[in-house]
Amino acid sequence: MSASCRRVGSCACGAVRFTLSDAPVDVIACHCETCRRWSGYLWGALRVPRHDISITGDTLRWWHASAAASRGFCTDCGSSLFFDKQEASYIGVAPGALDDSTGLMTTAHICIAEAGDYEAIAADVPQAAGPDTPRGNKR
Ligand SMILES: [Zn+2]
Ligand SMILES: [Zn+2]
Repeated sequence: MSASCRRVGSCACGAVRFTLSDAPVDVIACHCETCRRWSGYLWGALRVPRHDISITGDTLRWWHASAAASRGFCTDCGSSLFFDKQEASYIGVAPGALDDSTGLMTTAHICIAEAGDYEAIAADVPQAAGPDTPRGNKR
């Protein structure tokens, strides 16, 4: 089985659609305060190389939470869809927005120092207190 493949997805109302020409299967779960507030719980992302994603939809807006990163969402339905860190080679894409998320796996938790105490974090998945992805996160 390939470690990556083509996938498509959309926001909840369908106005914003995207295609990933070569999507990874690893989901990185971020527990930072901004992700918690923005998503309502925690926010997970596939890290998709910039040249492997195409996005359509007039209702997509970007919220600049900081100078370093912005977050893409649909203004009609409010779906939290994308995370764009200025200096990264990838765009974070919400796995929950995919039409078919079969085969994906959460392989790391980051920013757990800011996690809510209601969050269940699997003990066998590598964790990091801060934003850097923990080493050895490949199963
Ligand atoms: Zn929408
Ligand atoms: Zn975060």
